[in-house]
Amino acid sequence: MRTADERIAAALSALRAAGGRATSARGAVLRVLAAATHLSAAEVHARLTADGLPADLSTVHRVLAALTDIGVVHVVPIGGVLTYGLADRPHHHTVCRRCGTVRRLPRAAVAAVIAAATADGTFTTDSDGRDGGVVVYGNCTACPTRPAR
Ligand SMILES: [Zn+2]
Ligand SMILES: [Zn+2]
Repeated sequence: MRTADERIAAALSALRAAGGRATSARGAVLRVLAAATHLSAAEVHARLTADGLPADLSTVHRVLAALTDIGVVHVVPIGGVLTYGLADRPHHHTVCRRCGTVRRLPRAAVAAVIAAATADGTFTTDSDGRDGGVVVYGNCTACPTRPAR
């Protein structure tokens, strides 16, 4: 497992390699994302504010869109909300329906799904987990057996 600092450094160098500028706002957003799996723009905004780095929500949206365009961040819609995570290692996701926890699912674990989806030749996909990839919904085994709310 790489440390958060290593992941941030790798994202910043990928950003520069793609011709993007490593602004302080981009660095701050990458730092927040490296400390989580996936966060919505509102959650990124709340964490920046909690860290004493006030940024307005529209700036956060703009930074996330730029980082997504460059490919260092990918977007996964979860429960109707767009969430953002570092795309440093291609991966897919599992989502707990009860608590919303997002976990990374290794690319290899989804290979059979991709193979089945394309087997009859009527559909192709370049989904390799670099983009949002595949989302598997379920429940954490530690979550209560009945919905909490
Ligand atoms: Zn992800
Ligand atoms: Zn859960």
